[in-house]
Amino acid sequence: MNYKVLYRKYRPNNFENIIGQEYIIKTLKNSIIHNNISHAYIFSGPRGTGKTSTAKVFAKAINCLNQKDGSPCGECEFCKNFQENPDIIEIDAASNNGVDEIRNLIDNIKLTPTNGKYKVYIIDEVHMLTTSAFNALLLTLEEPPAHAIFILATTNIENVPITILSRCQRFDFQKIKVSDITKALKRICELEDIKINDEALEEVAYLSEGGMRDALSLLDQLSKSNEEITLELIESVVKTISLKSVNDLLNDLEENDVEKTLELINDFRNRAVDYKTLIKKIIDVASNRAKNIKLTSRYQRLNYFEYKNLVLAMADSLNKININVDSYTILEMILLEYLNTSNIKNEEVIPEPQKEVPEEVLKEKMNVTPSNELSDELVNIRINNCFVNAQKKYLESLKSAFDNLFLQDIPGKIKAILIDSQVVAASDTNIIFTCHNEHNVAHAINDLDEVEELINKELNSDYKIIFISEKRWLEEKNKYIENIKNKKGYSYIEEKMPVKNDEHLLNDIFDASKIEIV
Ligand SMILES: [Zn+2]
Repeated sequence: MNYKVLYRKYRPNNFENIIGQEYIIKTLKNSIIHNNISHAYIFSGPRGTGKTSTAKVFAKAINCLNQKDGSPCGECEFCKNFQENPDIIEIDAASNNGVDEIRNLIDNIKLTPTNGKYKVYIIDEVHMLTTSAFNALLLTLEEPPAHAIFILATTNIENVPITILSRCQRFDFQKIKVSDITKALKRICELEDIKINDEALEEVAYLSEGGMRDALSLLDQLSKSNEEITLELIESVVKTISLKSVNDLLNDLEENDVEKTLELINDFRNRAVDYKTLIKKIIDVASNRAKNIKLTSRYQRLNYFEYKNLVLAMADSLNKININVDSYTILEMILLEYLNTSNIKNEEVIPEPQKEVPEEVLKEKMNVTPSNELSDELVNIRINNCFVNAQKKYLESLKSAFDNLFLQDIPGKIKAILIDSQVVAASDTNIIFTCHNEHNVAHAINDLDEVEELINKELNSDYKIIFISEKRWLEEKNKYIENIKNKKGYSYIEEKMPVKNDEHLLNDIFDASKIEIV
């Protein structure tokens, strides 16, 4: 079989096939069109971003007998025999870091090119040259013959002497975007008849860290299995974990699903996933989520600061790898901090703290302002009234209205409450919100009139609203479901200005609501 590895087979042979470096290509083409070519270039950037390919296409274009708009024609004698052209001299400084190689180059540089107009010297990984080799190169760069062009490429520009840099026109190659690599890979998979699904395609692009060569090498490796390339195959071949798995982990964390979170960590542990790679991916995904939290996306359980702290804790956990403990235990402990562990069903997983804390102390600690009886009544009435005609359609439309609500002009303290809360039930007259942080419930109740007025102004509506904790909502919801099952209906309770110790009103509530109220 005449098998050629993909990255050689698909090495770009014209500017159009070089992806992700539009600005550099445009500048180089312009310099060719305007015959404004430098004698020395330095291409810096991460591996696999197209430095050598660009150098070769550039060398071809400046010698092409028939170039069009700065691009090589691909058909003339020079273009056709490009691979065997003695005037294109490639030196890999990583393998030939001796001064002899450069001396040899200098001895022959005076000779005019055999075919084209220019002799092009491409020196890969130029930072690997020895000091004396650099000195020899510098002499040449100071007075190059008119027919000589140098293209120096490096992944480590910091190690190239400034004296060399100052004589070169510099181009910084960027990591190629995942979306660009995905697109290019898709095309190649189609041409090669490689079966791969979209998720897996994106994963390969992600794993290549912005380098097309790595992406193609990985694709090569995966395609040898002769089965459809899936995330599972990638995970088993590369011993890595997919972006999807990391996203799943953070989704479980968002959904406060303790069991699933621990299960996933255990799965990573059993598969002996490389810990550093895993943490790096969690940092990538979590920091992206943190950056993309908008003021209005308050249906996200974790806020910006929680994600920020998670990212910092993850980075810090990398320092603990060498300690003689199971690294995954550290990961577990960090993630558990972000789970509301009061929801843990199985007490064996994490025992509830046994220590008894006097209620007063606890309240103070949680920064909960005890709500007075007056507002307790109002809370009960409004929960009841919402249930009278609570419907999914009201809930859905309010949820989307709140997603799109612009919070910019809302005072800080109310914004803090709204960002932390979500609509959990709605009727045509009432809305129930829950707050993730308990202390925000107390704040919301204290400023209920102001919050209500703001919401009604924004929505151009006339809702009665109420805020409760997530725990309370769980209880209320269960009671509601129970009542619906037992065909106990709800009837509307008039909202009078509740007066403290008003026996009549209290009786009214209990009679009319026909539900047990705590
Ligand atoms: Zn040509």
